[in-house]
Amino acid sequence: MYLKSIELSGFKSFGKKTELVFQSRISSIVGPNGSGKSNVAEAFRFVLGEQSMKSMRSKKGEDLIWGGSPGLARANRAGVKVTFDNSTRLLDIDFKEVVVERIVYRDGQNEYLLNGTVVRLKDVIRLLAGANIGGSGYQIISQGEADRILNASPKERREMVEDALGLKLYQHKKAESERKLLESGVNIDKTKSLRREIAPHLSFLRTQVEKIEKAREMKEELAVKLNDYLARENAWITQEDSRLKDEAHVHESESKKLSVRLAELRTVAGAGKHGTSKSSELHEKLQGKEARLVEVRREGEDLQRELGRAEGALEANTVTVEQIVAVPHVRQFARELDSTISDIEHSDDIATVRAALAHIRNRIKSFVEGLSGAAPVTSHEAKQQVEELTVALAKKKHEQEVLTGEIDVMRKEIARIREASFAAERDVIEHEATLREAQGKLNNANVARAGLKSLRERFEEEVREGVALVGAALTGWERSDIPQGALSEDRSEQEKRRKQIERLKIKIEESGLGNGDAVVKEFSQTKERDEFLARELIDLETSASKLKDIIAELEKTIDEKFKDGLKHINEALKGFFVKLFGGGEAKLTIEQPRRKISRLNLDIGDEDEEEDFVDEEEELYAGLSISVSLPRKKVKGLEILSGGERALTSIALIFSMSQVNPPPFLVLDETDAALDEANSKRYADMIMELGSKSQLIVITHNRATMAAAGELYGVTMSQDGVSKLLSVKLEEAERVAK
Ligand code: ATP
Repeated sequence: MYLKSIELSGFKSFGKKTELVFQSRISSIVGPNGSGKSNVAEAFRFVLGEQSMKSMRSKKGEDLIWGGSPGLARANRAGVKVTFDNSTRLLDIDFKEVVVERIVYRDGQNEYLLNGTVVRLKDVIRLLAGANIGGSGYQIISQGEADRILNASPKERREMVEDALGLKLYQHKKAESERKLLESGVNIDKTKSLRREIAPHLSFLRTQVEKIEKAREMKEELAVKLNDYLARENAWITQEDSRLKDEAHVHESESKKLSVRLAELRTVAGAGKHGTSKSSELHEKLQGKEARLVEVRREGEDLQRELGRAEGALEANTVTVEQIVAVPHVRQFARELDSTISDIEHSDDIATVRAALAHIRNRIKSFVEGLSGAAPVTSHEAKQQVEELTVALAKKKHEQEVLTGEIDVMRKEIARIREASFAAERDVIEHEATLREAQGKLNNANVARAGLKSLRERFEEEVREGVALVGAALTGWERSDIPQGALSEDRSEQEKRRKQIERLKIKIEESGLGNGDAVVKEFSQTKERDEFLARELIDLETSASKLKDIIAELEKTIDEKFKDGLKHINEALKGFFVKLFGGGEAKLTIEQPRRKISRLNLDIGDEDEEEDFVDEEEELYAGLSISVSLPRKKVKGLEILSGGERALTSIALIFSMSQVNPPPFLVLDETDAALDEANSKRYADMIMELGSKSQLIVITHNRATMAAAGELYGVTMSQDGVSKLLSVKLEEAERVAK
């Protein structure tokens, strides 16, 4: 005995709280029409989680609530509580007694409670399903619905049988797995589509990153080349600058020396030229001396002539003009003139020529005067005169010699000065050339230094650019030793290096990727995401494949259990059928699996055709058909059965199903209504038999059925429309039932 009691409060006609306590395996509920018996059966449906209002003869939740009568106000909620004895752990919950309660409010809200705790509907359904309670509802056969199993479609019928066989749990599991598989499928598609979406971006980023890697390699190469190049360049510029500085210094000091020397030489050269003070002074002095020499000579000649005359007077004592002017004297006079003239002839100096001419004029004048002024002198006087004149003449001659010597010295000095000037002039020219050369070299050195300065500027610019391009990697050039012979190599080698570097810079610039950190980061993130998705895909596919296995396994279990169960049901059915009909046969047969074409695959044709198509999941579904053959009747099939025969067949079927996998309890609402007396008796026997396996709540008007029950409840309806319940004896029951 699992079912202990059911309590109805405000449910349909049970306006007041009413409790049915079940103490027998078979309880019968009796009462007149409209007293509320079926409401009790519906109370079972309701509390077990029925969602179909129709099956509880209602349209909405509110219809289930006591509607009120003049004697009793309407209720705000309808509640049904069913109590199970769970000492054998029929329900998979760790309580000795389990109370399942459902309440519906006027706004249609439902509440489910399990031992007083609010739970979800699915928790209730799951718990009951584990004990083979609920499901397709074959265990609660409503009034007039006994042949529902006959009217059902093969598919529905199969579901009812599966339910009866306790396969619902497997079906639930299968449905759950299928739902998960569907979800996995959706997720697989989603993940694949995400990967497809990422793929082009990822491949773009991969290419970019490859380029960045290449650019980085190029940068590394550039750093190495630049460090080498800059180290060489720095060393070369430094060395070259120092060399040029020294060179410029040398040329500068040489130029200075040459300038000083040149000034000196120019002075020397200038001294030898006319117009310079020293030269003029010398020439002036020379002229003075030469004029004096002419004068001294003339005076000497005068003295000579006087001496001649004096010597003549001495000889003749008395001398006439004719005597004075002796022939030798005239000859002497002529010789003097001739000598002076020949002197002039050899002189370039105009002053000398003039002086000689003046001397000639004076000599002629004094000769003429000598001829007229001569006076006779005594011999003594004459003698004295001769002596005096001789002395005077000697003096003059001496003076003349001194002068001649001095003039000679002076002329030589003038010649020497001229010569020195000429030499100096030559030196000046030479020095000027040397100076020009030195200055040229100095200039060249300075120009080269200026060029070097711009090279240094370019070098610094290259360093800045290099730092901007390769960053910290560009410090090596300051430390790195330059290779041997680097400073003496041809500059074209360094130029080649510079060009190589420029080409490399252009390549890096053309790659146009900057430092690319952001791209590399994005690539690694996108790659990570793609890898994550790939792993996710593998997981999903693995779980999908596992789910498929589980589904296949479940299908196999369901199939096996179903086939096995069906075999037993058919065996039981055979017995019940013979018992009820006294012969004949009824059998459940699995239909040929129907292959339905997926709607997705055939999205063509007109709309009418589409009605034949069902969803893919219905593929290969095999329903259950019933074959019936009655004794003594040739015609077969459900269609030919009378109302009573249909009821008997249904009862046989329901009882067979209940026997194979007995549910803890069964509610049968006037299932026997259509039976004649003889069949009612058979039905009562079967109830007894069934009662040994399942607890039964039988609503009936039949005495035979009532007699089979261990306890009887009478339902009556009072004047105010409230159903009431009372325990009755069989004798009473018959009365109550009417
Ligand atoms: P029968 O023997 O003819 O099958 P029954 O005993 O099974 O009758 P029910 O069908 O259970 O009777 O009861 C129907 C009665 O319940 C009706 O009188 C109906 O008015 C009453 N009823 C149904 N719903 C409500 C409600 N919400 N409030 C009050 N009374 C209700």
